[in-house]
Amino acid sequence: MKFILSLVLGLSLISTLSAQMERTPPPAGRGLFIDLVAGVRDGKVRLSFYQSTRFWADLTGPAKDPKLVLRIYRAEVPGLVFGMDYEEIINDLTPAKAKVIWDAPLPAINERKYEFIDEAAEIGRTYVYWVSSNLGDAPTGPKVARVRDPQTFWNQAEIERRIDALAQAHPKLVTKKTIGATVRGRAINALFIGNSEKRIALIGSIHAGESGPELILPALEKICTENPDALANVGIVAVPIMNIDERERLAEGYPYYLRKNAAGVDLNRNFTALWGEVSYLYGLISSDPESTTYFGPRPESEPEARAIAALMKEVKPLTVYSYHCVAMLAGTDLVRSVASGGDADYTARCEAVAKVYVESAIGTGAQAGPYSRLVCTGGSLPTLMWKDYGVPAFDMEGTVFAPLGDMATREQLAEFQAMHARGIFGTLRYFSDKK
Ligand SMILES: [Zn+2]
Repeated sequence: MKFILSLVLGLSLISTLSAQMERTPPPAGRGLFIDLVAGVRDGKVRLSFYQSTRFWADLTGPAKDPKLVLRIYRAEVPGLVFGMDYEEIINDLTPAKAKVIWDAPLPAINERKYEFIDEAAEIGRTYVYWVSSNLGDAPTGPKVARVRDPQTFWNQAEIERRIDALAQAHPKLVTKKTIGATVRGRAINALFIGNSEKRIALIGSIHAGESGPELILPALEKICTENPDALANVGIVAVPIMNIDERERLAEGYPYYLRKNAAGVDLNRNFTALWGEVSYLYGLISSDPESTTYFGPRPESEPEARAIAALMKEVKPLTVYSYHCVAMLAGTDLVRSVASGGDADYTARCEAVAKVYVESAIGTGAQAGPYSRLVCTGGSLPTLMWKDYGVPAFDMEGTVFAPLGDMATREQLAEFQAMHARGIFGTLRYFSDKK
């Protein structure tokens, strides 16, 4: 028995060796690797990929050939503008024009899997990667990774850290409460600050690639530390980030603009008020699941929208500011429900509230009125707040700095943080003074 076993082992060893000797090159144009992923962690790009099933099943596979040479190619996409360029920007990039950044054996981390960290990746750049071997296989790729500055574009861990730090630093003033979960099961957290009877509401990143946490949280930190008395008569309820799942993909290096939630629904079209009214805003069709403004299969089909709708019902805020524009910067271009346009009393109240935010943020007379425009569609948060509550509610869009997008500098972000802190503080004062 022992003899037979060793004979079988011996034969299989011989057949392995002969297969390696007679290695047949892969068919022309075929890659040998699959599931290439390029993601950003701590400002570096991490690549991972697997041998294809066919390659792995073949006895010539690199797990059995540690001398197999792997080639990793990298090209830079210098001109990509977030929110303006999409996949066509990399169409003319080929590995032939790319730089080989690795050309050596790479130990597999499991039988079929490889991992590679691009330590030379730099913050503020966008890279395209391919991978191949020395067997004449076609490079697998491209995969794109955009290395955003983790100090200006926060990942979810950083956002959660700041939410907890704020609640811990001001235990009498600030309460954190989980109000729901995203499609992917991440907790959606709200901060209840100051007066519990009357509150203004601040909602961040209902659209994944838009502003919120980087503006709202520093404003709250500043007001709680420097002017806690301002919160005595009117408090704040804030959800610094609503569309957590898809914004995290951006923090992990997805290069292009993302808007919908992980289920492919535009959350700012999913609320019950006038839901299902087809909007053609931006040339898109909101009833089309393939549109980036898709309103979803039914009103409040999405857990993120249900969480915010329940919060609005519970709190009945005095006003709502929802932060938009691109990346982490929103300006003072306030837009509200188109359907509210014929409501004269509501329009007057919106203008009064909007003027306070704008002038507190950027200075009296710095922006000409009217201070709010009619843009928001059926199913949007501003439409919900108008229709069901009669509450002034705005989406906050961008002005001058919009083209900087996710590549704004730390100084520019600081300027916007200070600006919005002033707008929020002015709004608190306005409602505190109001009888
Ligand atoms: Zn938006």
